Amino acid sequence: MNRYKGLIDHYRKFLSVKEETCIVSLCEGNTPLIEAKNLKKELNIKADIFLKYEGLNPTGSFKDRGMTMAITKAKEEGAKVVICASTGNTSASAAAYAARAGMECVVLIPDGKIAFGKLSQALMHNAKVVSIEGNFDDALNMVCEISQKYPIVMVNSLNPYRIEGQKSGAFEIIDALGDAPDYHFIPVGNAGNITAYWQGYNEYFDHGFAKKKPKMMGYQAAGSAPIVLGHKVNNPETLATAIRIGNPASWKFAELARDESGGLIDMVEDDEIILAYQLLSRLEGVFCEPASAASVAGLIKAVHEGKIDKNKKGNIVCVLTGHGLKDPDNAIKSSKEVIKIKGTVKELLQVINLS
Ligand SMILES: *Cc1c(COP(=O)(O)O)cnc(C)c1O
Repeated sequence: MNRYKGLIDHYRKFLSVKEETCIVSLCEGNTPLIEAKNLKKELNIKADIFLKYEGLNPTGSFKDRGMTMAITKAKEEGAKVVICASTGNTSASAAAYAARAGMECVVLIPDGKIAFGKLSQALMHNAKVVSIEGNFDDALNMVCEISQKYPIVMVNSLNPYRIEGQKSGAFEIIDALGDAPDYHFIPVGNAGNITAYWQGYNEYFDHGFAKKKPKMMGYQAAGSAPIVLGHKVNNPETLATAIRIGNPASWKFAELARDESGGLIDMVEDDEIILAYQLLSRLEGVFCEPASAASVAGLIKAVHEGKIDKNKKGNIVCVLTGHGLKDPDNAIKSSKEVIKIKGTVKELLQVINLS
């Protein structure tokens, strides 16, 4: 039997687990790298585009890559309770892995700004869900304070094991393409993921598994773009709630990834995000959540601004961080309406233009 058993099992020698470590896994990772030929045609570029569809992780986002490591290590250290601040996906993931490990999970969420799919996951996995009258940054401050004073393990991406698990995304991309891509487009919120991918690309390069490293192209939402603006944003706003963060924990590492790779961190407006979100669903059959589409919105912007040479062959990867079903409200809001008829064949033929 050769069953895939999750990314810790698969990339064990790159991760800080011991032989006897009991792994907490939901078989996360091993997500598809989908070629986006229609998008390539639409953008009229020579390079091939690939979508790293992280929505296909067990709880529907890339957070599972870090969470399998964070919960495995928390369990190993004897923790009984884990805590996180979350815009939604971290809480869904933490709740699921904690349930599997037999641990209590406490999640702090910004009031009223969490997508429904994510909330339902945290509740179903029996986390203690606490909503505060504040934003993600306020919630994260509280979590940091509590986890320093009490025997509760923090599983936000400040937990180094989170980043360690998440770097596996870069390994998978190189394993699939045979080398690193030329460009890596990624949404940036708390900036843990861009940090992790850059680490993963570097590690694989150092081991000789890749001959090059990609330019790291990070995208924040314009209403919450502290790194682009060069200062904290006190009241971050964007419909892409997963990247609605005004003071990223891994700010400096994101800048390092940008500078070392010769890439950039830029911002995209909410309507550019929605356009990319729709384009992916309509042209490629790939449904991601709004925050995820920031990577593709970034690619579209970079092409239009001439930052990507249209005539140059190569590989471009866009990470789609979470599944579209996480946020059905935004999906329905940005779609055309359901057509209502009484129920006769004549009407039906009319609405489908076959009469
Ligand atoms: C967490 C998250 C992000 C942002 O990732 P960071 O590591 O915080 O930069 C982007 N998209 C989705 C869907 C997420 O859940």
